[in-house]
Amino acid sequence: MRFRLEVKALIEVLNLINGQFCTTEECLENLNPATSKQTSVIPRSTASDVDAAVIAAKRAFPAWAILSYEERADWLDRIADALEAKSEEIAALESMDTGKPISLARAVDATRSIVNFRFFAEQVRELEVERFEMEDASNHVVMQPVGVAGLITPWNLPLYLLSWKIAPAIAMGNTVVAKPSELTPLTADLLARTLVEIGLPAGVVNIVHGYGHEAGQALTEHPDTRIISFTGGTATGKIVASTAAPMFKKLSLELGGKNSTIVFADADMKKTVAGVARAGLLNQGQVCLCGSRILVESSIYDQFMADLCKHIEAMKLGDPSDESTELGSLVSKEHRSKVESFIQIAKDDGGVICTGGKRPDIEEGAFLEPTVISGLDINSTCSTEEIFGPVIVAHPFDTEEQAVTIANGVEYGLAASVWTTDLEKGRRVSEALDTGMVWVNTWLHRDLRTPFGGTKASGVGREGGRWSLSFYSEAQNICIKQ
Ligand code: NAD
Repeated sequence: MRFRLEVKALIEVLNLINGQFCTTEECLENLNPATSKQTSVIPRSTASDVDAAVIAAKRAFPAWAILSYEERADWLDRIADALEAKSEEIAALESMDTGKPISLARAVDATRSIVNFRFFAEQVRELEVERFEMEDASNHVVMQPVGVAGLITPWNLPLYLLSWKIAPAIAMGNTVVAKPSELTPLTADLLARTLVEIGLPAGVVNIVHGYGHEAGQALTEHPDTRIISFTGGTATGKIVASTAAPMFKKLSLELGGKNSTIVFADADMKKTVAGVARAGLLNQGQVCLCGSRILVESSIYDQFMADLCKHIEAMKLGDPSDESTELGSLVSKEHRSKVESFIQIAKDDGGVICTGGKRPDIEEGAFLEPTVISGLDINSTCSTEEIFGPVIVAHPFDTEEQAVTIANGVEYGLAASVWTTDLEKGRRVSEALDTGMVWVNTWLHRDLRTPFGGTKASGVGREGGRWSLSFYSEAQNICIKQ
């Protein structure tokens, strides 16, 4: 099978610096992972390009910071309106750049990117000054803008995560320099064009493309970026932290996960099988929250595994631009090789491939069959390390305590889900889990007002609602003596 190439001419992705589009001396190629064909050329920004962007952001800061919340919220709504008019283009570009199914790009990526701007517009409109009265004085807390924010994002949910950072950062009066993933630059480029079209003041949002170790590193270590918000892998997060922390920058790290899905025997089996498959495989398993480690109560283990594999084998894998496709391509052939190397390790460790484990019959692209592995030791590599692909490992457990111990026995602490009809047990188990988020009888069910983030190697800090507003500002207490 072979898929058509969607672009007739190469797209030229440009940096946006001080309201102007520009490129760099050297450029990088960007491919459609489902066809292996080049779609675009992107700038390979250097430290001097990043410096120009930071200077522009610094220059734009005073005029942007003195606007009222209402004025900045209006800008966010204008951005949301303009993106909404392009939502089909966002979905098409995102699907082409990442290999994800178009239906997913439409329902999740395009929709959330627009909602993020609207949501934070509303959040700052509702922001109230906190006051603390004393007998002889009164305090009030001003949430001051910080300055220039450096925002670094990964490839799995490109505009969704970029807008999740840009919206609260500029809503609170900061200006930004964003560095999207070099693997998925197309919707950041669309956002840049949109911001210029609607006339956002020059320098408020700057976007530089290129490699992480070059442009990303330069942004992190620039003395004038006072905030660094990073979403990506834990290994990269360590490098970012070691650069930014000694400079006392405000730092948010949203990193990797190895999230457990705990299935109790009393769960509603039909809904649970579908929910567990979705949690493990959405976006080809390339979501930081994916439940890639399934723990199933022993009494139902065999039946549950049979039903799960049957459900997964019926999922439609193929052309991401086909409306009925449920599983698309991985983000690149290099990433697929990495995922395949984990499958090989699982086999070497005595794991049993219950379904999948190989490439489907598709000539081009980075496709891989959804894979379920059983029979591994709970401390084995594939049971404890983040694979970030369509690979789920399964383990039986006997008691509630054992399930919690296994779930907490990894270095990560991002998310988990618990499946049971006993809601009291669901609450009890959730509270015993060392993760930032837990869902009971659902997964990735997001209220944007709630805190998002992980414990342990999954990161530092929380995003979402007032947590984002607080991160992108400095709380200044003013105490006035009567
Ligand atoms: P990555 O760490 O390789 O890259 C993320 C970003 O960091 C990219 O823009 C990259 O260019 C940049 N980068 C690389 N080296 C850098 C450096 N030295 N300094 C500054 N920036 C640098 O991650 P990825 O492969 O793009 O994304 C997958 C990872 O992201 C997974 O581990 C996944 O769990 C994680 N993730 C976490 C969340 C979350 O909210 N916790 C969300 C999505 C993805």
